[in-house]
Amino acid sequence: MVGGGVAGLAAAHRAVELAREGGRALDLRLLEARPRLGGTIRTERVDGFLVEAGPDSFLSEKPWALALCRRLGVEDRLVRTDDRYRRTFVWHAGRLHPLPDGFQLLAPTALLPFVTSPLFSWPGKLRMALDLVLPRGHADDESLGAFVRRRLGREALERVAQPLVAGIYSADPDDLSLAATMPRFLEVERRQRSLILGLRQALRGAAQPGTSGARWSLFVTFAGGMGELVDLLAARLPAGAARPGHRVTELARAGAAWRLRTAEGPVLEADHVILATEAHAAARLVRHLDPSLAALLGEIVYASAATVSLGFRRADVSHPLDGFGFVVPRTEGKALLAATFSSVKYPGRAPGDHVLLRGFLGGMLGRRLLDEEDDRLVGRVRDELHEALGIRGEPVLARLSRAPVSMPQYHVGHLARVEAIERAVAGLPGLGLAGSAYRGVGIADCVRSGEAAAERAFAR
Ligand SMILES: Cc1cc2nc3c(=O)[nH]c(=O)nc-3n(C[C@H](O)[C@H](O)[C@H](O)COP(=O)(O)OP(=O)(O)OC[C@H]3O[C@@H](n4cnc5c(N)ncnc54)[C@H](O)[C@@H]3O)c2cc1C
Repeated sequence: MVGGGVAGLAAAHRAVELAREGGRALDLRLLEARPRLGGTIRTERVDGFLVEAGPDSFLSEKPWALALCRRLGVEDRLVRTDDRYRRTFVWHAGRLHPLPDGFQLLAPTALLPFVTSPLFSWPGKLRMALDLVLPRGHADDESLGAFVRRRLGREALERVAQPLVAGIYSADPDDLSLAATMPRFLEVERRQRSLILGLRQALRGAAQPGTSGARWSLFVTFAGGMGELVDLLAARLPAGAARPGHRVTELARAGAAWRLRTAEGPVLEADHVILATEAHAAARLVRHLDPSLAALLGEIVYASAATVSLGFRRADVSHPLDGFGFVVPRTEGKALLAATFSSVKYPGRAPGDHVLLRGFLGGMLGRRLLDEEDDRLVGRVRDELHEALGIRGEPVLARLSRAPVSMPQYHVGHLARVEAIERAVAGLPGLGLAGSAYRGVGIADCVRSGEAAAERAFAR
């Protein structure tokens, strides 16, 4: 395996499981360039705060991460969100407005909360209501921005869809492929024409929250933070298999096997290689083997991001913090893309009488901002949190974490590109790809991607 993020770790762990199930020997190496495993996942404990540098949770709706936790026997380590506070605010015109109840990511499904919400103007609301009568679109792969503008209008895009997708995909909605990221909405339009009516119907068909008996909330994490997943997976690998601090610089055929050269010196031979790196890193490794595959991989654009976690005394924050956080439309001209009320969302994130807040910066629409010095970025987040939440005192904790070129962008045409990549890889026996670059950016998708690559390589 090359790449020790969650996809590489899940691939390595699945390979171990398959070898054990098949009673076969496995000589496994997981080579990771950085001095630690986990890739974008990193949890730190500082002064009684639990700080997540990257992801703070995973989606339980997508079953693969939860299923892995069950197989690892660690379900009791998982914690759910406090769903009394399951709402998101939107920072608009100097105030935090709750996203109206029933808003399904892109469109409203409940009439009263939507009609009475001050987040939208009357012309904006009427334009959204036009979705009820507008005909279907015909594009095969359309940007999310174009789709929302066409069905619900500019205000719905600017005040809700754009900031929400910036928070999830760090993306510019006018480049983001709807088919590759949120195919559910395309499907609803295809079947029911109106997004509002289709989503309402789907909601009526689904079990009501709280009555389904589902044990897990939508977002789930570990009591000790997402770093627990990394440690748990690493602990299941054979002793000495994981090699942090080993950057693979060259991949070449060696007869029927593969030869991997590392910057640190060791050269390894392997029957199977799974590249679970970012697509740009995989592109460099295959550039001599298959230049056209390298070109396709190189076409997947990456965004950079940064998170700033700030701890405050609870008494210094006048906002009730009765939600999971807020998103910031680009039109507001702020540095923040979004902020999470981390210690409200999950227990054990801040010591008593304190709160932990986390700001998210960068993405495709905030690229230039990340050129600024650390202190300046921390200062910007502190000032904007002060303004949004009525904070008086200085933070008692400040942690900045940068994730350069770490977030793949699923631009229009992404699915066709991934299919071409998969065809090209199928022509290189013994080689596989995994990770967030291809068919889903979330932790659960990365687990599925890694496990599927291991199954293709090792299942018999
Ligand atoms: C700030 C942030 C917040 C996020 N929040 C969430 C969230 O809350 N929930 C969620 O589900 N997802 C979230 N994500 C997305 C999710 O974290 C990532 O998509 C996922 O962790 C990617 O895993 P990966 O293994 O594919 O890649 P990575 O974690 O990027 O790992 C790839 C690894 O490959 C290594 N590598 C590269 N080149 C080489 C080489 N030549 N040799 C050896 N090693 C190499 C890299 O050093 C890296 O460690 C977030 C992402 C970021 C950046």
